[in-house]
Amino acid sequence: MKIRFLGTGAADWREPVNGEFRALSSTLFDEKLLIDGTMMVRDRITHPEKITDMLLTHPHSDHFDLELIRSLAPIRVHAHSSWADRISGEGVEVVPFEYFESFQAAGYTVLPMEANHLPEPHDEGAVHFVLQDGEKTVLYATDGAWLLTREWYALTKFSLDAAIFDATIGEGYPGDYRIFEHNSIEMLRIMLRTMRQPMFAKHNASGHIHPVLKAGAPVYLTHMARTLHGPQGEVDASLRPEFCPAHDGMEVTV
Ligand SMILES: [Zn+2]
Ligand SMILES: [Zn+2]
Repeated sequence: MKIRFLGTGAADWREPVNGEFRALSSTLFDEKLLIDGTMMVRDRITHPEKITDMLLTHPHSDHFDLELIRSLAPIRVHAHSSWADRISGEGVEVVPFEYFESFQAAGYTVLPMEANHLPEPHDEGAVHFVLQDGEKTVLYATDGAWLLTREWYALTKFSLDAAIFDATIGEGYPGDYRIFEHNSIEMLRIMLRTMRQPMFAKHNASGHIHPVLKAGAPVYLTHMARTLHGPQGEVDASLRPEFCPAHDGMEVTV
């Protein structure tokens, strides 16, 4: 699975800082499946005609942009049923989904899971996704804070080859108010320690024991806030090799 990070910034990125810039978060899988995105990344999509499907995590304006969606038509757009009716456009096919009901998109099997994140007016769904292409299994978990119990139970059935996490809050920043809607590096460390331990799969009669995150599986960080992270060089120096902090344009193969 080839993953290209088109944008790796949280909502506070609007202009460059000291010559560095992160567009609002958007990630492209094998050129054909896009997760989230705004017009900030439109010029970075080199083969728009190859994108058949888009998954939307939630309707916050740093993730959902009708102008981008319409510019990519014809396209199938998958969003949670609580707000899918806000998406429209010529050549835009809207496919609503429900939490924990898997579906097919661009050749992937996708499981949408309820995330710990609340778009206003607080009755709309925010989701994380597990993507499977038949060989690899990847978790896409932004936006969101500490995993909800239901999501954790669902994850125990998988052996992830990689995970992509919301890392809005960088190293340090104790007391930051965002921890109830976004992750900090400290929170990620605690969750990942458990994700790497052998676990019983919940609700799985086989009782198979395995780590949710395979040994050596990379953890990519995205959705980094402008005010809560240093420049990329500093982020890399402090977080690698424990994490792989993404930057705009970074491409990896899982
Ligand atoms: Zn966001
Ligand atoms: Zn959000």
